[in-house]
Amino acid sequence: MEAICPVCGSPIRLPEDVIPGELLDCSSCNAVLEVFEEGGSYALREAQGILEDWGE
Ligand SMILES: [Zn+2]
Repeated sequence: MEAICPVCGSPIRLPEDVIPGELLDCSSCNAVLEVFEEGGSYALREAQGILEDWGE
């Protein structure tokens, strides 16, 4: 399963056990990306800004 980095457009391979809310690093641009569910599949969005709410 792959999703597209919203920052640089590179395809990113998602772990098979990926869950919405998980954070991944883009290996191309080093952006921190949050996984979210969209229409039954997974997509990525920039995690900047939500990191402050990531209490742990
Ligand atoms: Zn990227």
